[in-house]
Formats: sequence, structure tokens, C-alpha cells
Amino acid sequence: MDVVKEIMLQVLIASLPAFLFPLTFEKRNCYWQHNKRKAEERPFAIGLTYTCFTSTLLCDIFASRLWDVIPLNYGILPLFALMLYGRFRDGVALALMQIILYPLFAVNYTLVGFIMETGLLLYPLVLLTSRYFKRTSRQGKVAILSLFFMGGEMMIGLSPFLENNMSFHSDLSALSNGFINILVTMLAGSLFVYMIESTLEKEKLRGQVLQLSREYFREAEKLQQMMDAAPLGIVLLDQQGSIISINDTFLQLYRTYREESEELRREDLLLRKLNDVLSGVPIESIASRVEQSLEGQIKMTDLIKANDHIYFTSTSPIQKSHSKEVIGAVAIVQDITELETLRMELNHVERLGLVGQMAAGITHEIRNPMAVVRGFLQLMREKSPPTLDHYYRIVMEELDRANGIINDFLSLAQNRPVESEKCHLHDIIKELTPLLWADGNLRGQTIEVKLDDALPPLLLNAKEIKQLILNLSRNAMEAMEEKGQLTLETRVAEQGALLLVSDTGPGIPPGQREKLFEPFFTTKAKGTGLGLALCLSIVERHGGKISVDSAEGQGTTFTVLFPLS
Ligand code: ADP
Ligand code: MG
Repeated sequence: MDVVKEIMLQVLIASLPAFLFPLTFEKRNCYWQHNKRKAEERPFAIGLTYTCFTSTLLCDIFASRLWDVIPLNYGILPLFALMLYGRFRDGVALALMQIILYPLFAVNYTLVGFIMETGLLLYPLVLLTSRYFKRTSRQGKVAILSLFFMGGEMMIGLSPFLENNMSFHSDLSALSNGFINILVTMLAGSLFVYMIESTLEKEKLRGQVLQLSREYFREAEKLQQMMDAAPLGIVLLDQQGSIISINDTFLQLYRTYREESEELRREDLLLRKLNDVLSGVPIESIASRVEQSLEGQIKMTDLIKANDHIYFTSTSPIQKSHSKEVIGAVAIVQDITELETLRMELNHVERLGLVGQMAAGITHEIRNPMAVVRGFLQLMREKSPPTLDHYYRIVMEELDRANGIINDFLSLAQNRPVESEKCHLHDIIKELTPLLWADGNLRGQTIEVKLDDALPPLLLNAKEIKQLILNLSRNAMEAMEEKGQLTLETRVAEQGALLLVSDTGPGIPPGQREKLFEPFFTTKAKGTGLGLALCLSIVERHGGKISVDSAEGQGTTFTVLFPLS
């Protein structure tokens, strides 16, 4: 019984480093990580070194001889383990310690016993294998360690025979005990490797998980930034309809509808139910559609009109790719107000274009019979008594007016590119002033002309610009009462040449300002509403811009910008 006890004691002591290894390793690891240093080989080596030194020492202290013959010392277990797993110098140090300690504790030893029982012959081999050992696989390690343990233990077991204390024939029971001894060593050795390897593996896994989670967070951050950069409002929901992710665009949109929530942060909305968050907001209906999506409904889109805004919204379920199980939903909101107005404007322009073309065709056909009518009227007037002259004049004037409208309309509808040449805007204005003066005199209005001498010649179609100035000036005069003043002014600005036509009339009410340039918009009983439409068309064909400034009761200024050629 004593024999079993002693063997067990040795096994326990020798396996001490293996049992303590997970503890020392983890503790050291935490410490190193806490200090923000590299938590790699050092803590591993240090933990193992301490325990192996202690364990070897204890093995030597409790060493004995079974039946006073077979040496019992498992010290080579921690010794070889440190030589293979630890740093080279630690292994050498422990080997030296073992060589020194052995004579201190061993009982009745000879030189042969010393060499055999310390396993001295194997040391160089073990140390040399160390480098290869660290790189090899787990099975490889088990094999190498077991081999060395067995080798060491066999040398120990053989020493009594070499010392001639014992012979193979004389003591069979001792021999079989020796084999049991070797078997126990091997078991202990396997346990040793298993403990160390599984700890190392666990540690490796832990490192991998850490790395993976870091990568995951980095990816998630990238995704969030990508979502934030999108001009779409995006909300991600989990299976229960709670918000799990939200992007900047959506947050901004949400803030515009929640006045008290200027300071609202993303975190305030996360994990809340969507219908809860959106209640009272114009895009509320998304919430109910998201619920349908969570029940597996496929993608749904809808247009929502709210507070002058038009939103294109789409909701779709998020599904697992194989099983199609719904694991969440995504809602996307796009503000398409601008797009929609553009589309409407384009529609409008297209319709106008079509109407214009038709009308142009008809008016062209009307012009010819009218010319004939006018010709014959002229003839009849000459042949009629002078008392009827007055009537003829009225009829002819009205005919001329109708002709004027048709001409305006035709040039508006034709929209052909201008044939422009280099000419001076001032020359055109000067040519027109006598005509305007005469008109103004009749109405009792004054006309002022302010020309900027720095104005360079421009690429213009003189005929059309004349029409433009006349139209703007006529409008101004028609708007003013007696004693009003019409001002024609030119200026050179950074963006181009400016022509300003201002009056001191009643101004234009804000509601009418957008409609001014639409064909047929007029507030006059005998107006055609084509004057400004024609002006716009002329200016655009010259590559310029026209705008209006008006103060009610004070006057109006039309500003035309021509590009400097
Ligand atoms: P029309 O002169 O035949 O009415 P226009 O296109 O030239 O058509 O002008 C459209 C409308 O714009 C006018 O009916 C008038 O109400 C307004 N308008 C244009 N110019 C002025 C101005 N200088 N002051 C006030 N109202 C103006
Ligand atoms: Mg007019």
C-alpha cells in the first residue's frame, strides 16, 4: 500500500504545473493585458517556469526507492515540459538545478545512477527538439513529450540493473513493477500535455473571438457610416418591430416633425417601437406597413404627401437567406419633393409646347386671310365717303392689334435659336428712346436713361432685344399713372451685363409674381398675357436670365442679365 501512496504522491507533484497552468496563465494574461503590453509568450513562459521549478524541487525532495531498489522520481516530467514549452534559458537553468539537487536528496547513488536517474543523457536532445516542438501540432507534441517521458523513465528504471543491484532473472516482480512505473509516467505525461494544450487552445480561441468581435464592430461602424452617407432615410427593425438602427438622414427628417426634439439623439430612438416613435408624424403610415413586412409581406412602396413635401417610402422584410424566415424589416424614406416639382414643371412645359405648336399652326393660317381682309378694307375705305373713315380706322386698328398678337405668339412658339451678332445694347436703347419719349409724353410720364459706359458690345439679336425693351417699357408705362417715371439703366456686373427697366407704379402682388412669365397671364382687360412670356423666351435664347423685383405701392424693376460674350 505504501508503494501506491508514494507513486500517487509523485504523480501529483509532477503534474502540479499542468494543474496550475490554466490558473497562472489566465492570471498573468489579465495582468499583462491590463498593462496594455503584448500578452503573448512572456506570461506563458513565466507561469510555467515558476511551477515547473517548484514541482521539480518537490519531486526531488520526496524522491524514494520502491522496495529500496527502483528509484521513484517523476521530476523529469516538469523538467522536460519546461525544456520543451518554455524558453531555452529557463530549460537550461532547471536542468542545472536538477543536476545539483539530485546528489542532495538521492539515497545511495553511484555515478551510473546519477547519470541514469537524472536523465542527463536526454537533456541535449530535449533542448534541441524544443524549437521544432513549439511549431508542431498537438498530436505531435503529445508524441514527442510521451516519448521523452518514457525514455527518461526507462533510463531511471534501468539504472538498478546497470548498478548490478538487480538482475532480470532474479527479481521478476520488481521488473513488472518497473513497467507499471513507466506506464504511470506515460499517463501522467499525457495528462500534462492535455492540460497545457487545452489551455493554450482555449486561449487561442479567446483571442480569435476577441479579434472577430473587433472586426464585427469595425464592420458595423462602416455600415453605419455608409447608411449615414446615403441621401435616404433608413430605419432597421428587429423581429418585434423595435428600432435597431437608424441613419442620419432619417433622424434629420424626424427632427423636422418633432419641434421639441431639436436635441434628439440617435440613442433616444433605438430599441423603441416604430409606431410609438412615429405617432403623430406625417409618415406614420410606414409603421403599419412595417408590421405587415414583419409578417412576411414582400416589398411595399407608397407616396406620402405631407406639409408641402412628398416622400417615397418603401418597406421590406429582412429574411434569412436559406430559410426565408423573417428576422426584421427595413423602412426607407426618400424626400422626392424637388424631383416631383421638376417632373411637374417638365410636364407643364411639354404640354405648353404642344399647345404652342398647334396654336402656331392655326395662327399662321389666320394671318393670310387677315392680310386679304385688310387689303380689301383699305380699298373700300378709299371708295367710301369720308364720313365712314372713323369706322374704317377702328376696324383697321383692331385688325392690326390682332396681327400684333399673332406675331408675338408666333415668335414665342417658334422658339428658334437666335441669329445674333456683336452689337451694342446702348445703340438699341438709343434707337428706341424717341419712340418711348413720344409714348411717355402722351401719358404724362417721364423717361430716364442711365447708361454705363463700361458696357462692352454683346452678342445680340437687335430685333428681338428691341422687342424685349419695348415690351418691358410698355408694361411699365401701362402700370403707372400720370407723372410716373420709367428708368432704363445698364450696368456691368460680375455675372454679366445688366439691363434694368424700373417704374414707379403700384408694384406686383406676391401671389402674381410666379405667374408673370406664363403665356396668357394678364390682369389687363385688353391684355394678351404674351408680352412677358415673349421676353422670357427672348432672354433665354440669348443665354441670359430675367428676374423681377417689386415693392407694392413703390414700383417694379425687371432685371435682365446678358452673359458677356
Ligand atoms: P399684358 O401686358 O398683355 O397683360 P404681359 O405678359 O406683358 O401681358 O404682362 C403680364 C402681367 O404682368 C400684366 O397683366 C401685369 O399685371 C403684370 N405686369 C407686367 N409688368 C408690370 C409692371 N411693370 N408693373 C406692374 N405689373 C406688371
Ligand atoms: Mg404687356
